Amino acid sequence: MAGIYVHIPFCKTKCPYCDFFSVTRRGEESTFINALLGEISLQRNYLHQRKIRTLYFGGGTPSLLHLSHLKLIFDRICAAFNVVGDAEITIECNPDDVTPYFFRELRSIGFNRLSLGIQSFHEEELRVLGRRHTVKQNDLSIQQALQEGFKNISIDLIYGLPGSTSKSWKETLEMAFEYPFKHLSAYHLTIEPGTVFGDRLKKGELEEISEENSVAQFRKLIDYSGSKGFEHYELSSFALPGYYSRHNTGYWKQEPYLGLGPSAHSYNGNTRQWNVSHTRFYTDSLLKGQIPCKWEILTKRDHFNEYLMTRLRTHWGVDLAKISRKFGSGYRDYLLKAARPFLNNQYLKRKGNVLTLTNEGKFISDTIFREIFKEEQ
Ligand code: SF4
Repeated sequence: MAGIYVHIPFCKTKCPYCDFFSVTRRGEESTFINALLGEISLQRNYLHQRKIRTLYFGGGTPSLLHLSHLKLIFDRICAAFNVVGDAEITIECNPDDVTPYFFRELRSIGFNRLSLGIQSFHEEELRVLGRRHTVKQNDLSIQQALQEGFKNISIDLIYGLPGSTSKSWKETLEMAFEYPFKHLSAYHLTIEPGTVFGDRLKKGELEEISEENSVAQFRKLIDYSGSKGFEHYELSSFALPGYYSRHNTGYWKQEPYLGLGPSAHSYNGNTRQWNVSHTRFYTDSLLKGQIPCKWEILTKRDHFNEYLMTRLRTHWGVDLAKISRKFGSGYRDYLLKAARPFLNNQYLKRKGNVLTLTNEGKFISDTIFREIFKEEQ
């Protein structure tokens, strides 16, 4: 089984916190679509005829594309790959782009899961984040999606915003959980260098919230979503039973995937490759029949670190027996030694052969990953 990701690199405006690859120029869509259709054909053997069980349109803002373009891409993928009948087919949508007609047509194309970029239920926070939609549009987008028959809806929320408190975040959660969505992706705001927020932070115009406040908001998220029956199955992902993101679960379980579009990454079990993050280079190259990507062969150590990083994020955790089988007992011994301080301080826990992060460990997951990764000898 495998997954396909399609990166649609267009946005109406650039959100000041965003470091995903996207452009705000318009008028390039048709050329881009031609290039993308070319890439689909050129990459049709990348996954070695594996069955495709998930398809994910992300970005950027896929809901900015014309429906006829979305259908063209979708149909070309279905013609080139063996997409199974019950595949999970997701599209990210921004609340200001959608209408009942748009949702109806998405369903008729074949999309069966939505990821709505809600981000907050506070008008003020949406403005801070530079979002173009209002709380009213958030409400309408969820209502319309439900009315048009989408049963599998995921929403994105952002917490840890400048000026936010545990109380304001709890209010957002309370408003969010009034809707019958099935999956929640909740991200702490990280201020990345090179973004507008990054520049404002450097100039002292923006202040990050305290670590104590961050931890309190994260704890609130875990407790509140848990009280609503949501399982915290990955650091930023919460779902009702049976509604885990199958696409992202594929990444975390090291299943092969193909990424299409500028900046998209692919993994086939042995190599990782990534497309150029530039729309013009991307389209020019594909229109000449060449895939504009770089690639690397993964070493045993890369596979080991990748396994740690993806599995420790999830509630499935790291299986020590699997590490012995796949990498040898030396790697297992190395890991147990590197993990010992975190086990002693209860940031990690061990049950039989499985290591997982504790809730305390989730707060410092980046530090733990850094410390337990195997360095080059
Ligand atoms: S809409 Fe999404 S991808 Fe586009 S700039 Fe905003 S956060 Fe980034």
